[in-house]
This record gives sequence, C-alpha cells and structure tokens, in this order.
Amino acid sequence: MNFDVIIIGAGSMGMAAGYFLAKSGKKTLLLDSFNPPHNKGSHHGETRIIRHAYAEGEEYVPFVLRAQELWTDLEQATGKQLFLQTGVLNVGEEGSEFIRNIISSSEKYSLPLDIMNAEEVYQRWPGITLPGDYVGCFEPASGILKSEECIQAYKELAESHGATILTNSRVQDISVLADRVIIKTDEETFYSDALVVSAGSWSGELLSTMLDLDLPLTAVRKTFAWFDADENSYNHEQFPAFNFETPEGIYYGFPSTDGCGLKVGRHDGGDEINPDESMQEFGEVAGDKEDLRQFLNGYLPEIQQLKYGKICMYPMIPDEKFIIDLHPKYPNIAIAAGFSGHGFKFSSAVGQALSNLIISGKNDIDLSHFSLKRF
Ligand SMILES: Cc1cc2nc3c(=O)[nH]c(=O)nc-3n(C[C@H](O)[C@H](O)[C@H](O)COP(=O)(O)OP(=O)(O)OC[C@H]3O[C@@H](n4cnc5c(N)ncnc54)[C@H](O)[C@@H]3O)c2cc1C
Repeated sequence: MNFDVIIIGAGSMGMAAGYFLAKSGKKTLLLDSFNPPHNKGSHHGETRIIRHAYAEGEEYVPFVLRAQELWTDLEQATGKQLFLQTGVLNVGEEGSEFIRNIISSSEKYSLPLDIMNAEEVYQRWPGITLPGDYVGCFEPASGILKSEECIQAYKELAESHGATILTNSRVQDISVLADRVIIKTDEETFYSDALVVSAGSWSGELLSTMLDLDLPLTAVRKTFAWFDADENSYNHEQFPAFNFETPEGIYYGFPSTDGCGLKVGRHDGGDEINPDESMQEFGEVAGDKEDLRQFLNGYLPEIQQLKYGKICMYPMIPDEKFIIDLHPKYPNIAIAAGFSGHGFKFSSAVGQALSNLIISGKNDIDLSHFSLKRF
C-alpha cells in the first residue's frame, strides 16, 4: 500500500504529527507496536505537567506557548477538557540556576509568575514546608494535561481526517530508496514518500539499526506513585502541580484529580533499561518507595499513606534537549526523539513541527536548539 507519509510510533509525538499531516491532506499511515494510548512507553499515568516559565532554559518558551495554544485548539475540536489550570509551583534554592531560569523566562516572555518566600508558600498551601533559603515561583497560567486523553483525542481527530492507524504493528525493517521509503512489519509492506520516526524509548536502536544514525539515546526506568491526601486541601482546585529542585533530587507532583490522591515522581536518576525487556514493577527495586517518602517527609509531611505506584520509561539523551530535525542524509525523514522526561507538554507543537518539516522542510518556530547538528 502507498502513502504520502508513514509515522513509526503513534504515541505522544507521533499521534499529534498524524493529526497535523492528515489535516493537511497527506495520505498518512501511523504504525505502532501497541495500541496507543497504552502503558508500555512514556505517556501513561493519567497526567503530565505543562509549565511555561521553563527551568530548563528560556529557548523552550515560544515552543511551549505554541503547544498550549494547540492544546486549547484540541479541546475545542473535541469538546473534551484536556488541560486543568491548576497552576504550577516551582521550588528551589534562591539564586539557583533552576530558579534564575524560571524568573528570566517569565520576564523575557511576560509570563505571570508569583515569587514567594518559604513562609509565603506555607501561608498559601499549609501542606508545603520549605527551608528558609528556598523560594517558590508559582505560575498561575500553567497546569496539567490528561496525557492519555490527549493522545486519544488526536487519534480520533487524525482518523476523522482520513489517517490510517495500525496498532500492534511493530516496524521491523526500513529501506530508503531514491524516491520512496519501504517499511515492513511482520505482516505487511508499506510504501511512502516520507517518514516520521517518533518511536520514544525505542528510537535509539531503530535509528541506528534501520536508518544508519547512531545517537546517544537510551531508555531509563522511572517510577511514580499516588498517595492518600485530604481532598479538601489537595484537590486540583486548591493545590497546584509542583516541580521541586532539592539537594536530594528533582521531584514533581500533581494535585488530586477525581479523588485519585496526590501523585509524586522523581525526575532525575533511574536505571538504564532495554525497552524490550520487562521492567521490575514499582516497589521491586530497592529505594522505589523510600525515595518518594523521604521527599514527602521533607517537603509535604502531611502526605504519608502510599496508595499504589507504577513504572514508565524516559527516552533519554545526555543533554536532555530534544531531537526534532530532518535526517542528515534523507530530507524526507523527520525525527522526534530523546524527550528526556519533559516532552509531553510540547507534543502538540512537536506534532505540528514534524508535519511542517515533512511538508516544507522548515518550521515557523525555531527548532535549532533541537537540531541533530549538535552531535
Ligand atoms: C513517569 C513520567 C512522568 C513524566 N512527566 C512529564 C511531565 O510532567 N510533563 C512533561 O511534559 N513530560 C513528562 N514526561 C515525559 C513525556 O511523557 C515523554 O517525553 C513523552 O511521552 C515522550 O513521547 P514519545 O512520543 O517520544 O514516546 P511514547 O509516547 O512512548 O511513544 C512512542 C511510541 O512508539 C512506538 N514504537 C516504538 N518502536 C516502534 C516500532 N518499531 N514500530 C512501531 N511503533 C513503535 C511505541 O509503542 C510508542 O507508542 C513524563 C514521562 C514519564 C515516564
């Protein structure tokens, strides 16, 4: 079968790209090893934080603001609430690079930001206790995305624009010829003019073995867990999502939505894994529970009772910046990889950028920070 574009990996980035390409009139095929949204990759666990004043660097801000607009468009197109404006509280040591980047991003892009000392944070959210030299930077316009529902929404819209989505169809081979690309799964062979590779934690091996591109991409096991929390204080209308840089590590969390409890995870660390091998469940690795508990004991001491935890994967790249670029040898192949545990919020804008790269070779928002040239 012939297509204009084939997308390998219909997860966070690929499903959004499928929507934008199909909407532009491209005959689009999405292939996925599983049935997205699913719990085998990087997008499950119900929610993802979207922050605007970006601690990782102000170069991300125009991209995240575009992503936020596109999430609103997706809500309007589907009639579903996908974003909850809980606000996001960023916490760290006063004067740290993390806090400085948040403040400078908000100043440069005129983003609303309330900067509070430890006492002011406690006055506003009495569940949070901070050392005296910490500050809280609260972004009232940011919040949380319902990640699996976002992917489901893009899936339905992509199909309504004529995209074909084949699930449980793992790509086993890619051949690039002068005028077309040939993709093989176990069952079928497909042909297309162009290709998008958005294979999450599987990207490193796929790019190296099938597209002659060796990149320092790895996959890391991550854990996160829900804890009992008083609904009156910790529900999403009272309590913000949060992102803490502490000497022990970087932790993030979500207020309780629909009575599910407070969700907490650790961003840094984690063991490198092979994404094709089954991972140890939450609690099976020493430190899974203790790590989250020591964070909660220090900063959110009212939160004690663990409900349950889950595991997930981060596709990692050493500098933790994304790859969104065309293949250096093949201008008809676009790659989105290495989202390093902070990519979901951008996935609407990444999908649009991938579609733009395939259609015109360029994007209206600068992607040079995410270029393959840095390797
Ligand atoms: C616990 C956790 C918390 C996170 N928190 C946040 C957060 O708060 N905010 C935020 O912005 N980001 C967050 N992230 C990061 C974000 O979720 C990821 O960056 C994002 O989901 C990555 O998207 P992806 O499309 O690269 O991968 P995925 O969504 O995993 O999609 C990749 C897809 O490719 C498919 N695939 C792979 N190989 C093949 C093949 N050979 N053939 C066919 N299909 C294939 C897979 O089945 C999968 O569906 C978090 C991640 C985790 C794990």
